[in-house]
Amino acid sequence: MDTYQGLRAAVVGGSIGGLTGALLLRELGFTVDVYERTPTLLENRGGGIVLQPTTMKWFGERSARRIEELSTVTRHVRHLGGDNEVVHDDAVEWRYSSWSTIYRALLDDFGTDHYHLGEFCAGFDQDADGVTLRFVSGRTETATWWSSPTASPPPPAGGCSPTSYATTPDTSAGAAPSRRAR
Ligand SMILES: Cc1cc2nc3c(=O)[nH]c(=O)nc-3n(C[C@H](O)[C@H](O)[C@H](O)COP(=O)(O)OP(=O)(O)OC[C@H]3O[C@@H](n4cnc5c(N)ncnc54)[C@H](O)[C@@H]3O)c2cc1C
Repeated sequence: MDTYQGLRAAVVGGSIGGLTGALLLRELGFTVDVYERTPTLLENRGGGIVLQPTTMKWFGERSARRIEELSTVTRHVRHLGGDNEVVHDDAVEWRYSSWSTIYRALLDDFGTDHYHLGEFCAGFDQDADGVTLRFVSGRTETATWWSSPTASPPPPAGGCSPTSYATTPDTSAGAAPSRRAR
């Protein structure tokens, strides 16, 4: 089994996707830091959201928090027409929460010691030893693995093995192959 103890991972973007990725990387053994450009804890990003299976997975498999505590469920979906006539009726289970509830629960699990607010990632350089992230503040950070749920920096320009390049939808990620533990 791979072990990543002693390696650093950097996640750009500290919202739901970034925190979920950071928690999973930490489970693998990485020391993980999250860099979020917003200077304050995130809030007011909408009301109710339908929980996707991937959003619930952390709580179903790893967190001490149960998804049932964080959400509510409907088991029947009915669409009404202009005259209140039933145009669609189906037994479907959908689970709902608020964006803030999920964000807060993920942040509670991750903690704030390695959660850096007000850090706008402007770009990165990568070589065989790792990646160096550059921030607008002037900060630079090195890591052996980086991930960005939606910040979408350009893909690494070389030095990145295709087999070590994560390709989940809407996620950019890269790893320096020579430092990847086996
Ligand atoms: C109207 C609306 C309704 C939605 N309804 C649902 C729903 O029902 N169910 C659902 O699952 N999803 C829904 N979504 C999508 C929801 O917003 C996402 O699921 C969720 O917020 C995705 O999280 P994310 O971390 O991938 O991206 P985001 O929430 O977009 O987070 C990206 C983060 O990266 C930060 N960032 C970006 N660039 C940089 C940079 N260069 N440096 C540092 N930080 C950076 C941003 O500030 C941001 O905090 C909806 C979205 C909208 C707009």
